Amino acid sequence: MNKTPCASCFNPKSTHTCDQCGVRICKKCLQQNAASDYPLMQKVPAILEKEIFCPSCFDKDVLPLAQDYQAKEQAAHNLTYFSKIQSKETRLMSRKEPAITIKDCHDRQEVILKLAFMTVEMNFNSMIDVDTVSEKLRNGGYQTLRWSGSAVPVNLDLEKLELREKRRLS
Ligand SMILES: [Zn+2]
Ligand SMILES: [Zn+2]
Repeated sequence: MNKTPCASCFNPKSTHTCDQCGVRICKKCLQQNAASDYPLMQKVPAILEKEIFCPSCFDKDVLPLAQDYQAKEQAAHNLTYFSKIQSKETRLMSRKEPAITIKDCHDRQEVILKLAFMTVEMNFNSMIDVDTVSEKLRNGGYQTLRWSGSAVPVNLDLEKLELREKRRLS
């Protein structure tokens, strides 16, 4: 029986250990984290793979990364993109960056979101030439689809684009 009190509230029943700094903490004070909280990340940093934190390590080491992730995930959901077949719209846009790719997704939406997240991480505001393909996979008795895709990250003048869009609709 460990008699070290909780490092945060001094409760003598410290049932857990912080995965980051090793202090003992009680059930009420521990902060939980899971790598699955960051589904769009290609490579979750080692610290975000740890699960149990004391409040001070959580605030200092996890919270800033978690908030950064959430902001990027939000931006990925709202990212402007054009698919490959919209070549008429994107014909004149310059493609300086090489295409990025994503593999092994469950559906088309996941491919697009992961491409968008990568684009946001690279500091671009849009993507063009978005292309997704599915491949049949035989999994024991039944078939599933595995999705992959590619896109070219670009920085577009979104205000101008929006004006043009409005003009076209009116
Ligand atoms: Zn405590
Ligand atoms: Zn700690």
